[in-house]
Amino acid sequence: MIEKVLIANRGEIALRVMKTCKTLGIKTVAVYSDEDVNSLHVKTADESYYIGEAAPAKSYLNQEKILEVMLSSGTDAIHPGYGFLSENDDFARLCEKNNINFIGPSADSMNLCGDKMRCKAAMLKADVPTVPGSPGIVDDAQQAEKIANEIGYPVLLKSVYGGGGRGIRLVTNDKELQDGFDTVTSESIAAVGKSAIIVEKFLEKTRHIEYQMCRDKHGNAVHLFERECSIQRRNQKLIEQTPSPIVDQAKREEIGELVVKAAEAVDYTNLGTAEFLRADNGEFYFIEINARLQVEHPISEMVSGLDFVKLQLDIANGETLPFKQSDLKMNGYAIECRINAEDTFLDFAPSTGPVPYVTIPSGPNVRCDTYLYPGCTVSPFYDSLMAKLCTWGPTFDESRVKMLNALNDFDIQGVETSIPLYKTILNSEEYKNGQLSTDFLKRYDMIEKLEKDLIQDRKEKQIPAIASAIMHSEFYKSKVKSQNSGDTDGISTWVERGIM
Ligand code: ADP
Ligand code: ADP
Ligand code: MG
Repeated sequence: MIEKVLIANRGEIALRVMKTCKTLGIKTVAVYSDEDVNSLHVKTADESYYIGEAAPAKSYLNQEKILEVMLSSGTDAIHPGYGFLSENDDFARLCEKNNINFIGPSADSMNLCGDKMRCKAAMLKADVPTVPGSPGIVDDAQQAEKIANEIGYPVLLKSVYGGGGRGIRLVTNDKELQDGFDTVTSESIAAVGKSAIIVEKFLEKTRHIEYQMCRDKHGNAVHLFERECSIQRRNQKLIEQTPSPIVDQAKREEIGELVVKAAEAVDYTNLGTAEFLRADNGEFYFIEINARLQVEHPISEMVSGLDFVKLQLDIANGETLPFKQSDLKMNGYAIECRINAEDTFLDFAPSTGPVPYVTIPSGPNVRCDTYLYPGCTVSPFYDSLMAKLCTWGPTFDESRVKMLNALNDFDIQGVETSIPLYKTILNSEEYKNGQLSTDFLKRYDMIEKLEKDLIQDRKEKQIPAIASAIMHSEFYKSKVKSQNSGDTDGISTWVERGIM
């Protein structure tokens, strides 16, 4: 039985994992870099160990160093979170070899899932439909061109090792192919040190719908329903919700059965996610498996009533799933907003630095997973995700309105955030009506709408403030005196005329 877990991660996910460990009476071990000396995960853990410099390669990706900490601290299990080493099968194997329980799938299964091409091939064998594309790796741009012409433009060039929206390029004609091929190659090499490219048909007006899957070491598998993650920027998720407004119960079960087959096809154990694209004609196509705890897992916890980290620990302990598919029911509606430190108007560029002040929203059915505290720092070395704000309601609209209120309550000083954009999106008719697609932001001009909302907001907030300043000014008093008029209606006219 697991008694002491090292969390090989930082930020909100390290804190999230510790919450469950503490509830279960399991000891927690944190690791940290120079940059994280004052981070919350270090203070929260029972034990904390320094592992190196700020750059991930020198700390959170340093396998030997992390292993050393596990062995010297008497840790019997490791939770990798997401990102960093979470999908590194070499690291999973290293843990297995050293008798450390890796909370996730086996190294072999992870290796298969981490290769988009081999994984797609396994799915085709199990009759799970995949996006049409090249039958295997393409060696060069010429071969990619041949396949692109067969399946028809537009196509995507994808690194089979890509992740987090990196290593993907849209190509619309022969001329763009060489450039796209080179870019994907260098992006993939920069991220993981290797590259292998596949060609996929680019599905237009598509929805990203994924399924939580769960399989124990005895071969029992269920799905824990879908999440729709279509609101994205640069192929990365921003807002997720469950259930998906486009999936009815019959479809949920139909795709759910495919998901169980998918888990079996790659001998997956523990929790994972099968990602699909839903084309505009209603067809579902498998794209990849994320072999780890997913960023957006809290919304599935909210509608299933389960603690996913507990489930992960139980499965890692060799326990049998305590439920069958027919025992599982979806309850209510949950939404997640990924609160990023970024500037929407600078093409989502990261915004980093000290956060002198922050108020964290709360209330019934409002959940905020975050590492923020007043006086903390958003580091330029790591992911821009500062907080995951989730709300639940018995109806979609209650969940949505609750989210808008929580976004209004969320005050983060010192860095730019994605909060204003989310308010605009959640207020839009398109979002309310469930007209979702992965190009939602562009399709419905959300950035332009945000700009208008901000101007309106500024007007509403600033005119009373300016008016008050004017009323208290000597200038105003003398004017009122001279004109012998006390009405305040004139003030806005003054403001408009540019007197102030
Ligand atoms: P999810 O599917 O759980 O939403 P993402 O694909 O957005 O997860 O990835 C979660 C996080 O993990 C990202 O924010 C990113 O920091 C990190 N990540 C995932 N894959 C990679 C990769 N190949 N290279 C760098 N970072 C990655
Ligand atoms: P990653 O490993 O970076 O998460 P994915 O293969 O899961 O890469 O794709 C990320 C996103 O890119 C999807 O959510 C979707 O928005 C877009 N995408 C991927 N494949 C396709 C495709 N064939 N057609 C259209 N969009 C795609
Ligand atoms: Mg993906």
